[in-house]
Amino acid sequence: MHLHAVWLKRDFRWNDHAPLHAAILAASKERQEGQGAGLLVFYVHEPQLWTQPQYSPRHAAFVGESLAAMRQLLPEMPVFAWEGDVLEILQGLHSGTSKFTLYSHEEIGLLWTFERDLAVKEWARKHKVEWREYPYSTVKRGRKTRARWTQEWHAYMHQPQVPSWEAAKVWLETASGEELPRAVRESLGKEWRAPERSEGITQEGGPQRGQAYLRSFLSQRHRTYHLHISKPQESRTSCSRLSPYLAWGNLSLREVYQAYYGQKQQASHRGLTAFGSRLRWREHFIQKFESEHRMEWESVNRGGLDAFFQKDEQRLQRWKDGQTGVPLVDACMRSLCHTGYLNFRMRAMLVSYATHVLRLPWKSVSAHLAQQFLDFEPGIHYPQLQMQAGVTGINTVRIYNPIKQAQEHDPQGNFVALWVPELAHIPMPLRHSPWKATALEAEVLDLSDYPAPMVDLEESMREARKALYQAKRSPEARKEAERILAMHVQGR
Ligand SMILES: Cc1cc2nc3c(=O)[nH]c(=O)nc-3n(C[C@H](O)[C@H](O)[C@H](O)COP(=O)(O)OP(=O)(O)OC[C@H]3O[C@@H](n4cnc5c(N)ncnc54)[C@H](O)[C@@H]3O)c2cc1C
Repeated sequence: MHLHAVWLKRDFRWNDHAPLHAAILAASKERQEGQGAGLLVFYVHEPQLWTQPQYSPRHAAFVGESLAAMRQLLPEMPVFAWEGDVLEILQGLHSGTSKFTLYSHEEIGLLWTFERDLAVKEWARKHKVEWREYPYSTVKRGRKTRARWTQEWHAYMHQPQVPSWEAAKVWLETASGEELPRAVRESLGKEWRAPERSEGITQEGGPQRGQAYLRSFLSQRHRTYHLHISKPQESRTSCSRLSPYLAWGNLSLREVYQAYYGQKQQASHRGLTAFGSRLRWREHFIQKFESEHRMEWESVNRGGLDAFFQKDEQRLQRWKDGQTGVPLVDACMRSLCHTGYLNFRMRAMLVSYATHVLRLPWKSVSAHLAQQFLDFEPGIHYPQLQMQAGVTGINTVRIYNPIKQAQEHDPQGNFVALWVPELAHIPMPLRHSPWKATALEAEVLDLSDYPAPMVDLEESMREARKALYQAKRSPEARKEAERILAMHVQGR
């Protein structure tokens, strides 16, 4: 039997799935021609990947729920989930069949997954196994320039979705009862059991949930999107909240784009337009990361911008624990750790506070954030982190003042009161800057449960601004900036 095996990575869906579609078409053709052909859909939970510092149990729970949701959608289609080394599992599958073809998406991931894919490639070559890899949406491996990127992106988004869902249903209707060869069944690895989702995380994995978020956003929630996008509390309902569904591939970006476009044609709205641009940014960043993936471990600009930052374990720990003494920063961190979500501006502010005010290197904050973000996507995470830390040399250095952010986006102090209950009884505006309390106020209001800030905010921001602007103007940093612009920016 020729086994067509579809390896799920971060693409847990049936619809618009090019590798799945190709596998079904090839297997169906062979079946019609009277040849034995089998289809296998599998996921491998690789223990080594899951010990990488960016990954956490909340991600594994989301993957487990996504697999369960796929099984619920097509109960007759077995979806295997094994725990173990992918090469050993592939070897087992290969030796149990007369012919074996592997199908998957290209993974735009960490160095670890890139090296694992090189090992799989080598294994496939050695064993004369064909591995058909399909691009991740519009992101191209080895792209050298951005010429025509936007046109290509739009053209792809307007192409019909790959009808893999329909093909899977037809495959199952015409199933002739062929089972997987015994040898394959016997070679199956240890079944993987996903952890439970923690209580604070309300977003459950799976394409059905992703669709529900998409529908509710397009029908109603987008109306307040542009108004609430930066507000830590209101953004939780006014933003789409599609990021985990896109990051783990429960929805394809094209599926989301086409639903958005259809809605926009019917009733255009400012909120919708703002959302549409972000869908494009998503792949702009992932392409950037794919073209220069060393940004996982070193600053993209090699012109000496890192000199400003200093390791400090105590500062880092207090930042991670939401105990910096700056209320909005702590509220954001605590909320993120509990719920897995934070809007864009508040993420940027957490990074800015850590790197500019506390002077922590971006590398020391990246893994903690990745673990907390339910939507951790390496291709967005690293370019954004570096951009917000001010180490790209091509972007304006944005130093977020947490007091100003609090006044603008949490004017009543409700978000702070919710996540920093030690301050809920402190009147406004003092709740946002309790260190400004006079000695009498501090005694009367009892501020003893909340720490004092680690550094002087104003002074630290001033120093950071001066140092980072100066470093950015150095000839080395400028030369690097030219190179980066040529590689990642259109029209260069
Ligand atoms: C330091 C930092 C790290 C980040 N890490 C991640 C990450 O690991 N995964 C992730 O999905 N997003 C990341 N973002 C981008 C952004 O904050 C989230 O995509 C967004 O907040 C998710 O919420 P939403 O789905 O409601 O987004 P919406 O505002 O509704 O946007 C819709 C979709 O567009 C994409 N998008 C939105 N904003 C951006 C952006 N600035 N850049 C690229 N794509 C965007 C996302 O896929 C998002 O789901 C990061 C931002 C910062 C500042």
